[in-house]
Amino acid sequence: MRNPDNKLVDPAAVSPSTPATAPGRPDGRNAGPAADVTGLQTRTGAPIRTGSLQREWSRAFVLVLVALLVGVVATVIGVRVVTDQIQHAAVQHRLESEAVAEIRADLDDHEQAGLQLLAEVPIDTSAFLQQQKDISAQFDAAAGILPDTYGMRATLREARTAWQDGLSAHGLWDSQVAGLHGNRVTETPAFAASGARSRALLANIRRASLDALDDGVAYGVELQQMVSIGRTGLFAVAVGGVFFFRRRMTKYLMRPVEGLYRGVLKLQSGDYSHRINVVRNDELGQLAEAFNSMAATVHDNHLELTFRATHDPLTGLANRVVLTERLASVFIDDGAVAGPADRPDRRPAGSRPTGSGPSDRREGLVIIDVDDFKDVNDSLGHNGGDVLLVQLAQRLRGCVREHDLVARLGGDEFAIVVMNDGGTATDDVAGRIQDALRDPFSIDDVRLKVTVSMGAAQRSAETADPAELMRQADFAMYMAKHNGKGRYQLFDARGYDKMTYRAALRADLATAVQAGQLRLDYQPVVELRTGEIAGVEALVRWEHPTLGRLGPTEFIPLAEETGDIGPIGCWVLDTASRHVAAWRRSSGTAGDLWVSVNLSTVQLSSDRNLAALERILADPASQADKVILEVTESALATSSDGGVAALNRLKSFGVRIAIDDFGTGFSSLSTLAVLPADILKIDRSFLSGVPGDAPAAAMLEGILEVARKLNLGVIAEGIEDTGQLDLLRSLGCDMGQGFLLAGPSPSPVLGALLASVSHLLPPAGSDAPADGA
Ligand code: C2E
Ligand code: CA
Ligand code: CA
Repeated sequence: MRNPDNKLVDPAAVSPSTPATAPGRPDGRNAGPAADVTGLQTRTGAPIRTGSLQREWSRAFVLVLVALLVGVVATVIGVRVVTDQIQHAAVQHRLESEAVAEIRADLDDHEQAGLQLLAEVPIDTSAFLQQQKDISAQFDAAAGILPDTYGMRATLREARTAWQDGLSAHGLWDSQVAGLHGNRVTETPAFAASGARSRALLANIRRASLDALDDGVAYGVELQQMVSIGRTGLFAVAVGGVFFFRRRMTKYLMRPVEGLYRGVLKLQSGDYSHRINVVRNDELGQLAEAFNSMAATVHDNHLELTFRATHDPLTGLANRVVLTERLASVFIDDGAVAGPADRPDRRPAGSRPTGSGPSDRREGLVIIDVDDFKDVNDSLGHNGGDVLLVQLAQRLRGCVREHDLVARLGGDEFAIVVMNDGGTATDDVAGRIQDALRDPFSIDDVRLKVTVSMGAAQRSAETADPAELMRQADFAMYMAKHNGKGRYQLFDARGYDKMTYRAALRADLATAVQAGQLRLDYQPVVELRTGEIAGVEALVRWEHPTLGRLGPTEFIPLAEETGDIGPIGCWVLDTASRHVAAWRRSSGTAGDLWVSVNLSTVQLSSDRNLAALERILADPASQADKVILEVTESALATSSDGGVAALNRLKSFGVRIAIDDFGTGFSSLSTLAVLPADILKIDRSFLSGVPGDAPAAAMLEGILEVARKLNLGVIAEGIEDTGQLDLLRSLGCDMGQGFLLAGPSPSPVLGALLASVSHLLPPAGSDAPADGA
């Protein structure tokens, strides 16, 4: 979508999946990449969890616990087995040794008894036989004790056989003993030898038993080693398990938690496009997804709010905020672009700045105001007006390039920031807009021709800030409107200066009376025949605090516009009447001196102003019968009854009325007859050519004739040379005023003049000089 107006919307923040609907509303809900991690979803929409931290960590703890238990059990059983093994070997060995030792002792005894029987020593044969039986029983018992191993049982059997065979061979075995008779001493060595053989075999058994004991102990040691190895193995498994789970903890617990934390920080810092990478779909994965969907919602809301804050809801155009931002960025860019190399003090003399420095930039601003939009609203209703604004916005969009910005400032006012590409691009844009408006708009079947007034300003190196550019374009627009509708006006600095000067003056004028900044000069009016000072005209001046002394032509028209003429006029009348009354009192020669005060038409047309004048005239201190009020002919022409009613109201206080600048206002002689006037002041333009200019002299003569017929006094204004004076005297003009006689002077100067002279001219026809001349 082409949305050049979207400046405030961070482009990075706009996800590509966000569909931008005209006019750029971000409706697309963006769940972010997290939503795509698994396709599995429950019926409520929440994804099914495939991993479980709880399960995993329960498993890990069970495993560690089992390893611990196995270790303990293995240790206990191992120690037990080893001890038993050694104990068993020792006990066996003791039993074997005892059995063999017992047999051996009895064999020795039995052999001694056998030897006695062979030597015919009488002994108890039954005891001998009993002993023989006991020994056999002992052999049987030993055979039960001795193990098969190490040939112990076989050796025992051999020893028994050797013993039995030895006895049998010498007739000493069992029943043989009964048949034994005679001395058989000779057999004793052989008998002893068989006994020795049995003993030797029994000794073998004892050695074998010792060997078995040795082996048993050795086996115990071996077992103990095996238990140690087993325990070490278990320890290794435990250590491995710890490392394994530590790694998994880092991967599935620490990193996701860290990621969540970072995500929260990013969100906090306003990065709404940040999404957390979901590592695994477990509890933390769910949390991450919840975070991502929350961030997506925040992102969408942010876009929505940003859009609403930056766009005009009716036309979808950017609003004033965006326009201001764009202008600000244009100015800021310049500051940023001009690097050290571009700074004039670092550049070689005469070289132009590289890139586009401020002086190269010519961005322009066009302000567009629909002409007579109020009429559209009045005739088509507000809905019709809205439709027109929307259509107009579309046409305006079509008149700019992609990187320009069209904004609605409010109401029927639009603005375009025309981006820099050299030349006066605003002229082109204005031309295109005027072309685009040639076709009428069609609103509810009504075809409507619309014109706009356009003002433009081009940014220059002197433009200080966006506000100044805006002011300039605004002013140009105002001028365009002022000069007639449907126009385009480029900002003109001189016109602007005049205008701002007037605006400043206008503001100061409001306080001029109160601040005591007004002064009065007085210009004498002379009786031409006698040369006597008949009266003075009060002329206002403004001592402006910064601009100095300003003449009435510089501020009276402005005061008429603002309405300040009311208080100013009252101040003049009040001050002038008091001053002149004081002069009348103090100077013996000017006892009849009158004062003439200029009135503006505004003072006559408003009831409030008129009443204010009446209050002053009602005050006896102002001596209204010595006051002449001057009203211009043109001023009277503007009021419906020619100001007659107003003038009559004032006349009732005893003042006289003079028609000022007579001859310039095209009033017919017939209207002059109905005016409640007492005096005509002939405009100085009638004197400018005389006496050389014969038609002008004739005109003068005519006016004087009419005045005489209507019984009006006459004052000729602008007498600058004696030729004019002589002509007026010869024509019989009553009074005159002009630089030849006396210019306007401040009140102290005039007060002093009045105190010293009563005549400014010698009487007509005399050659004597005037008093003061
Ligand atoms: P105005 O009523 O025609 O006043 C006479 C103006 O002509 C004065 O100019 C005066 O200085 C000038 N003038 C006098 N003699 C001569 C002369 O021989 N030759 C030439 N060329 N000019 C002469 P100023 O004081 O600048 O006043 C200009 C106008 O301002 C007055 O014209 C009057 O219309 C208006 N004005 C002055 N004071 C007031 C006031 O208090 N209230 C109002 N409403 N208007 C005033
Ligand atoms: Ca005047
Ligand atoms: Ca005049």
